[in-house]
Amino acid sequence: MSVGPRTNWRERGACRFEDPELFFPVGEGGLSLLQIEQARAVCRRCPVLHECRAWALRNREYDGVWGGMTAQERRAATVRGLGGRGR
Ligand code: SF4
Repeated sequence: MSVGPRTNWRERGACRFEDPELFFPVGEGGLSLLQIEQARAVCRRCPVLHECRAWALRNREYDGVWGGMTAQERRAATVRGLGGRGR
């Protein structure tokens, strides 16, 4: 994803100095759970968590941890109607 006017929140993300691989576990179970929790810990201290989460939901980003949510959680939120495009 490129950083443009609508995504410049990324420049303030707490993950910008982290290994990007941390946010892309190979699954959502087993050993990946520890990795996911480590990624979430970074997200919890992130000043742009809400912008990031909204972007990922709006853009149907179904890979990796964004805004403290896993892909599975974002899919579920979308199904429940929490990821509408109009936000
Ligand atoms: S919420 Fe998480 S993934 Fe999103 S910018 Fe912040 S640290 Fe990165």
